[in-house]
Amino acid sequence: MAGGYTGKILRIDLTNKSVSTLDSEKYQEYGGGHGMGSAVFWDLCEDKTVSGFDPKNVVTIMASPFSGTLVPAASGRTEVQGIGVQGYPIEYFTRSNFGGRFCGHMKWAGWDGFTVEGAADEPVWIDIRNGEVEFKSAEGLWGLDAVEAQEEIWRIVQNGEEKEWRELGKERTTQRPAVLTIGKAGETLSRTAALIHDAGNGAGQGGFGGVFGAKNLKAISVLGTGSVEIADPKALMDARLWSMEYAVAGHLDEDYTPLGMGSMFGGAPASGAAGYGPADQPKSPIGCLGCHKNCRARFASAASNGSSCVDYFFYHVYDQAAHGSYTQHILDATEALQRYGINSYQAEGAIIWLNNLHKEGILGPGLEIDTALDFNQLGTAEFAKQFLDMMANGYDVGEALHEGVAYAAEKWGRYEQDTASGILPLQCHGYVQHYDARTEVEWGYGSLVGDRDINEHDFNTLVFWAPSISALFGAQPACSADQLAEIMGEKLSPYNDPMMMDYSDEGIYSESMAKLVAWHRHYTRYYKQSLALCDWAWGDFFNEYGPEGRGMTGEGEPKFYKAVTGIDQSFEEGMEVGRKIWNLDRAIWILQGRDRELEVFTDYNYEVGAVPGYTTYEVPYVVPMYKDGQWVYESAVGRMLDRDKVEEWKTKFYTLEGWDPATGWPTRATLEELGLSHVADDLEAAGKLGS
Ligand code: SF4
Repeated sequence: MAGGYTGKILRIDLTNKSVSTLDSEKYQEYGGGHGMGSAVFWDLCEDKTVSGFDPKNVVTIMASPFSGTLVPAASGRTEVQGIGVQGYPIEYFTRSNFGGRFCGHMKWAGWDGFTVEGAADEPVWIDIRNGEVEFKSAEGLWGLDAVEAQEEIWRIVQNGEEKEWRELGKERTTQRPAVLTIGKAGETLSRTAALIHDAGNGAGQGGFGGVFGAKNLKAISVLGTGSVEIADPKALMDARLWSMEYAVAGHLDEDYTPLGMGSMFGGAPASGAAGYGPADQPKSPIGCLGCHKNCRARFASAASNGSSCVDYFFYHVYDQAAHGSYTQHILDATEALQRYGINSYQAEGAIIWLNNLHKEGILGPGLEIDTALDFNQLGTAEFAKQFLDMMANGYDVGEALHEGVAYAAEKWGRYEQDTASGILPLQCHGYVQHYDARTEVEWGYGSLVGDRDINEHDFNTLVFWAPSISALFGAQPACSADQLAEIMGEKLSPYNDPMMMDYSDEGIYSESMAKLVAWHRHYTRYYKQSLALCDWAWGDFFNEYGPEGRGMTGEGEPKFYKAVTGIDQSFEEGMEVGRKIWNLDRAIWILQGRDRELEVFTDYNYEVGAVPGYTTYEVPYVVPMYKDGQWVYESAVGRMLDRDKVEEWKTKFYTLEGWDPATGWPTRATLEELGLSHVADDLEAAGKLGS
């Protein structure tokens, strides 16, 4: 098998407490990570229409060929896929992702991935040490929070000994096992439950913590002492050193100048988290295995260590409003979120919604929606802990919110009215708005035609943050709108259409916007989710350190892939693999019931104008537009989407993808062109093949 792979996937059968192996070579064409996980899911999950809580649901937890290697911002990202429990109204097949050390230990232990199948009859955890796999009772772990459970497993694997070196068969290691666990929310089968690893790493979206809970699986622990075989180690080292020229990390001997919100790859250490703690509390950068960027922070108080920005989003604005600045309260609230193992996006959406209902006099002690929550305490860690305890344990408002905000809104009979007014900011498919579909449309459209909030920042910094923050401070973005269109026209192969950057009122419904969304779906499916290039660093389009502002994307991805695997694959060939994975996923959603009618935004996107701000931040929404023959950055605040034009855009997008415009279902010709004739056969048998 090519370099970067171990050749084996571990199958974990919880029902029979048995294991077996799967040859990963059969799935190598999908890269690894999500693509490999989707293809394995397709083969192993016989009924793809079951609930995510059903024992027949198959979860795949996958490394990539880059895991545990020197590839920057790629070595430590693990992909999770299966039928999630968060999607609304259908529990879609979905994916999530987390950082840390877990996938490195998978590879060093000899595994390209794990499957989790069936359900145990009592709580268990899985103890993996290289090739040895044991099912162990979780009696002593059930009830522990996500941090306590990991500490207890470390203690067990180390035989309770505190020493620097540990023996593992004939091998020795200084490493603690990498543990993926659930907290209370997962044990109670909450749709908001996350999988937690080490400090601050969580796979939140999808509700996979609840899926683990339904399988009676408290944790998977893996400890590996092997290594990853690299096809050309010198080429990999050269590529790593070359890439550091594009990053702050490669310029530490120069006067330190933080980059101007252009390149994600080049960004400053701790750039995703350090700003959320008290200004006077000492902190240091921390990151995933092998990452040059170390985007997260470790605070002196140790609370919420390793969290990313989104973990703080659920509560930071309330801490600031209550105390005038960030305090220990936001760190303690975030720590509690992780210990319960709750998806931060769901917690964020729930608090925004509850607070809006409270302001309208609908929710509060003795009101229509009765609660013990005292909103005078909003912003304190105590309020956050009380609220999170309700969500995790399912009482008070948590009785409904335990099911996630979409199902809670349905239960309270408020879904239609609150998503029409926008006081419940669900964008589509039950996911809380992350970036605004009315302004940053590629984010909204990508989520609409997919399974979840995309959470893919490829264009986000360049088309929203840089121009918007610059406008806020009366400055010019490091990359002009002209330059942005020129660079994207060069880099977004195979479309190479600069008009893809046109976010004007006309541009957002154009054929070019369909190309941008298609490019993004294909790029991320392969390069980011299957080769596991981290979303917080790749793609690299505009880069202040690059020649004439050009980043590495297009050149960097194939360079690293060849060095690790030995396979000479062009960037465009990789994009085709992404298109294949995207169509495979699409076929699963179609089997689950997806069609054109279900791909609609909630009403506020069509009926309420976009306001300045990004969820809880007050920033203008400035984006690139082509107007009167010129590229400019302009505000899109006030814009609402036009239903008819969105429908016309969908027709353009479906046609571009080779799907039936009437239904959104892939056609046989498209699937066969991608080598997915077996998928076409299954869709045809289900009466769901596009024509
Ligand atoms: S950029 Fe941040 S999240 Fe991504 S791999 Fe590096 S440390 Fe992890």
